[in-house]
Amino acid sequence: MKFKKDFDVIVVGGGHAGTEAALAAARAGVKTLLLSQNIETLGQMSCNPAVGGIGKGHLVKEIDALGGCMARAIDLGGIQFRILNASKGPAVRATRAQADRKLYKQAVRQMLENQPNLALFQQTVADLIVNGDRVVGVKTEMGLSFMARAVVLTTGTFLGGKIHIGLENYSGGRAGDAASIALAQRLRELPFRVDRLKTGTPPRIDGRTIAFDKLEVQHGDDPVPVFSFLGKREEHPRQIPCYITRTNTKTHDIIRSGLDRSPLYSGIIEGIGPRYCPSIEDKIVRFADRDTHQIFVEPEGLDTHEIYPNGISTSLPFDVQYEFVRSMHGFENAEIVRPGYAIEYDFFDPRDLKTSLETKHMHGLFFAGQINGTTGYEEAAAQGLIAGLNAALLVQEKESWCPRRDEAYIGVMIDDLITRGTQEPYRMFTSRAEYRLQLREDNADLRLTPQGRALGLVDDARWRAFEEKQRAIGELQEGLKKHWIRPDTEGAAMAEAYWGKPIQKEVNLLEMLRRPEVDVARLLSFYDKGAEVAEQVGEQVEIQTKYAGYIVRQQTEIDRALRYDHLRLPETLDYTGVPGLSNEVSEKLRKQRPETLGQASRIPGITPAAISLLLVYLKKKS
Ligand code: FAD
Repeated sequence: MKFKKDFDVIVVGGGHAGTEAALAAARAGVKTLLLSQNIETLGQMSCNPAVGGIGKGHLVKEIDALGGCMARAIDLGGIQFRILNASKGPAVRATRAQADRKLYKQAVRQMLENQPNLALFQQTVADLIVNGDRVVGVKTEMGLSFMARAVVLTTGTFLGGKIHIGLENYSGGRAGDAASIALAQRLRELPFRVDRLKTGTPPRIDGRTIAFDKLEVQHGDDPVPVFSFLGKREEHPRQIPCYITRTNTKTHDIIRSGLDRSPLYSGIIEGIGPRYCPSIEDKIVRFADRDTHQIFVEPEGLDTHEIYPNGISTSLPFDVQYEFVRSMHGFENAEIVRPGYAIEYDFFDPRDLKTSLETKHMHGLFFAGQINGTTGYEEAAAQGLIAGLNAALLVQEKESWCPRRDEAYIGVMIDDLITRGTQEPYRMFTSRAEYRLQLREDNADLRLTPQGRALGLVDDARWRAFEEKQRAIGELQEGLKKHWIRPDTEGAAMAEAYWGKPIQKEVNLLEMLRRPEVDVARLLSFYDKGAEVAEQVGEQVEIQTKYAGYIVRQQTEIDRALRYDHLRLPETLDYTGVPGLSNEVSEKLRKQRPETLGQASRIPGITPAAISLLLVYLKKKS
C-alpha cells in the first residue's frame, strides 16, 4: 500500500488551535498532516457562535496579520458585526462578530482544503510514538501510525472529557463527540503536570417559540465592520439582529431551588470554571444581591431557528433548565433544542512549555489551545498559529519565534501562560497587557505582518496589500503636512464651522489632526486627494497623530514603575476600589496582601498592567 504516512509536522485536533496550527506549519513550508476525530467538525464552535470582543478581537487581528484564517473565516461567516468600546480610545476598541456556525466552519474547511503542503485525515489519535525524550509520530485508534519530527496536540476539552447535566454525568469531548480517553491516559504517564478545568454551555432554544416582539433588539453597526485586513464588506453574508432579555427574581428562585442537584454545588465537579464567564447558577450564588442579569439572544445562523441565549450557561438538571428558561421575558413558551451542560477535562500546566509552545519534557511535542488551560476560540487559535509555526521551524532547524509582550497580545498571553501558569481557564483581556496603546487592533498588521512575511507565513497577496497600505500612510502624512489652512480664508471658515474653533494662525493639516475635536473624515475634505484615501489608511494616520504623545508617556510610566519596587501597600487597602483592576487581580491581592508593590508584582497572576494601575492609585492617594 502506498499510503502516505511520513510528514514533517502532525497536528492532532481540528478545532481553532489545530486549524491555525496546521495552516501555519504548511504555510511555513513543511509537509503537514491534520489528524482530527471528525472532519465534519473542523473549525467547529463548541459554544457561543461569535468571534472577537475586547482583548479577543485584538488576538484575531494579530492572527490575521500573521496570515492566519480566523478573521477571513468570520468575514465570510459573520451575520452581525459591531465595534465594542467605539466611543473609547483606540487601544480598547474591539471588533466582535456573531457567526453563522455553518458558514464559519465551511470557510475554515475551504481554506484547509486549498492549502498547499497540507493533508487532512479523519482518525482519533490514541497514542504518541516516542523515541527516548523525543516524539516521532502518533498512533491512531485503528492502529495506523503516522511519523513526523514534530507533533502539535490541540485536543481542546476532549482529554478525559466528562459531561455533566444535573447529577448525571458521562464521558464526552463535547455534546455529540466522544472524549479522548486513551490519549489522556498516555499523557498522564508522561512527566507533565496535569489538572482538571471545567466550562459550560447554555441550553439552545427553538427561535420559533420565542416572542421576539417582546425583546429589545440589537442591530449591528452601520457601516458594517470587517475583521481581516484583507476583508471587504461585500463578502459578509446577510446581516441580522440580536436581541436582549433578562433574568428576573422568579428565574433566580427556580435556579436556587435546583442547587441541591447542581453538580457544581454538590461537589461532583472538581475542575475550576471560567470566573468571567460563569454559569447562571454561579452568578446567582456569587452575586446574590442582584435580581436580574442581561441575556443576549443570539441567532446560531441564517438558515436555522436555533438560538444561543448568551449568559445562561448551566449544568443544572434539565427540568430546572426548562423551568428557568420559561421564566424569562419573551421566553414564556420557549422550547429547548439542546440541553445546557458543563464539561470537565484535563489540561496541562503551561509552565511546562517553552515560549515556542514546545513542551520542556518531550522534544518535538507542542501543545496549543484549551489543553494549555486557556478558554476561547481566539486564545486557542493564536496559540495554534505559534505552535504550528514553531513546529515547522524546528523541522527546518531554524530558531523559534514568538512575539514579545510589547509586540502583540499573543506575546502577552504566551508569556503569562508559561511564566505564571493558570489555576482557572485563562482568557485574554486588554488589562493583561502593559503596552495597550501600542497593541491596538488597528495596527496589528503594522506590528506583525513584516515579521510574518519573514517567517514565510504571509503570502504575496497579503504582503502587496500591506506594502500598499504602508505607502499610502506615508504619502498621506506627507501630503497633509504640505496642506495649510490660513486664517481669514474660506478654508478657515469651513474648519471653524466643522469643529467650532477658529483658526488663529497658519496650520498644516497634520497639525490640525492632533486636535482632539478634529476627525480625519472631515479633514480629508481639505485635502485634494482626500477622496482617494482608504478608510484604514485615514484611520491609521489619525490614530498615530492623535495618540503619539500618550504612547510615549505610557512607555515612560511603565519604565518608571520599576523604580517603585519598595513602595509600601497599606494593609487596609481596598483593592476593589482601585480603578481598572480586574476582579481576578483584586481578589488575588486581597487574599495575599503583599507588603510592597514589588512583592505584588511577583505574585503569579498580577500583571505589570495591574501594578501600573496600583501605582497611579497610590500616587493619587498620597
Ligand atoms: P477544540 O475546539 O475543542 O478542538 C479540539 C479538536 O480536537 C476537535 O476537533 C476534536 O475533534 C479534536 N480531537 C480531540 N481529541 C482528539 C484525538 N485524540 N485525536 C484526533 N482529534 C482529536 N470558550 C469561551 O470562550 N467561552 C465559553 O463560554 C465557552 N464555553 C464552552 C462550553 C463547552 C461545553 C465547550 C466544550 C467549550 C467551551 N468553550 C468556551 C471553549 C471553546 O470551545 C474552546 O476554548 C475552543 O474551542 C478551544 O479550541 P481548541 O482548538 O483548543 O479545542
